Amino acid sequence: MNTSNPNLHIMFFPFLAYGHIIPTIDMAKLFTTKGVKSTIVTTPLNASLISKAVEKSKPNHHNVIQIQTIEFPCEEAGLPKGCENMDSVPSQDLFITFFKATSLLQKPFEKLLLEQHPHCIVADAFYSWATDSASKFKIPRIVFHGTCFFSLCASECMGLSEPHKNVSSDSDSFLVPRLPGEIKMTKKHVPAFIANKENSREFVELLEDAKEAQAKSYGVVVNSFYELESAYADFYRDEFGRKAWPVGPVSLCNRNTREKANRGKEATIDEFECLKWLDTKKANSVVYVSFGSLINLPDSQLREIALGLEASGQHFIWVVKKDEKGTAKWLPEGFEKRMEGKGLIIRGWAPQMLILEHPAIGAFVTHCGWNSTLEAVAAGVPMITWPIVAEQFCNEKLATEVLEIGVAVEAVKGVRMEGECVGWDALEKALKRGMVGEEAEEMRNKAKVLAWFAKQAVEENGSSYSALNDLIQELASICL
Ligand code: UDP
Repeated sequence: MNTSNPNLHIMFFPFLAYGHIIPTIDMAKLFTTKGVKSTIVTTPLNASLISKAVEKSKPNHHNVIQIQTIEFPCEEAGLPKGCENMDSVPSQDLFITFFKATSLLQKPFEKLLLEQHPHCIVADAFYSWATDSASKFKIPRIVFHGTCFFSLCASECMGLSEPHKNVSSDSDSFLVPRLPGEIKMTKKHVPAFIANKENSREFVELLEDAKEAQAKSYGVVVNSFYELESAYADFYRDEFGRKAWPVGPVSLCNRNTREKANRGKEATIDEFECLKWLDTKKANSVVYVSFGSLINLPDSQLREIALGLEASGQHFIWVVKKDEKGTAKWLPEGFEKRMEGKGLIIRGWAPQMLILEHPAIGAFVTHCGWNSTLEAVAAGVPMITWPIVAEQFCNEKLATEVLEIGVAVEAVKGVRMEGECVGWDALEKALKRGMVGEEAEEMRNKAKVLAWFAKQAVEENGSSYSALNDLIQELASICL
């Protein structure tokens, strides 16, 4: 059953980072397909990418998504001028400043609420103040985390019982208490904001505020689908008493090449050129390597990746955030010449969704950001997991141990942003495991089954389709 609610107006406010903005745009599109009026709120410098994505989707989403901008006084908070997206924060030390600075958005956001009178807001979990803003206007606030049920549950369970305190060394494993599936973690894989509360005090405070705000909010919308992690979706709702609607994979609302190519930044490669290159390759013969929108690996690590790719003999597309060409110091001498026709380096931004969906892609070396993980699932691509920070280690567990569609780069020993270097040989080994042989084949088959379930979930009467309808009907009944 479709739901048509032309009178319902929802305001979406994503955190200022691509990993949050991209799925929020998709979510807003999904709501408009149900007749809901959707407004995305952002800052001026993020508005153009949102309007471009919205523009490309117009033929499919006839209900226009409105974009409203509010000023982000970043300089007032000690950030450089124009620093309106996590990806432009110049150093890791300023990440916390950036997080805290977003509280300056509360006032202009409330002014917008006063002018626009939305019936509900879907605001990012990091905007803990948004629950108070919503209650001032007597409207419900829904939280968007940008991660999966598994990680939400695992972080909550570890945060509550602190099992890592009972192990003597960083590499000793422990069972995550209460979490279904006997999941084992090691202390070095516990997100720093749980394991190192003292060192990450400001971030812990921020998360505690967010948790408190979430407890007072109306519910949580999750970019996942029930069949993927039903035990954890049930656990989250039953054990923590939260209302939660899994409405994903939201990326699947992008139906044509134009839409799929225009998620996030402008790609630094022409999408047709990239697809043409992939067309020349055999099925499952290319590995796609990307660490998402934020992670900047040091030159020494990039060099090891290059060496690992070459040693593995696999064809590859490798996304690197640096833009220097030819003489890049991080590339082994003669690498690009030797890899001609075999490997493609994309410097900057890749049309990831299009790449993952191409039949030539056999595996994805990923940092396990939740969007990338779910996009791999939706495309039926197994993963070679290399988490770097925060809940990415939990997402890795889901991919490798629960879903069994991933192999871990074994030398990753709790590498965080500041990072240890992973040697080329560890990557080579993981690439071989993930790309060729029986294990790779089994993972590929499992990944294809999950991709089928993902597509079913968003089709008419699928679990995510129905969850979205339920959410809209519930909001319409309380708000209109
Ligand atoms: N992305 C992309 N091209 C790139 C890098 C990233 O399209 O070159 C997209 C990717 O498809 C995903 C998002 O950016 O939707 C990254 O989110 P994720 O949660 O994977 O990682 P984050 O960047 O938040 O660490």
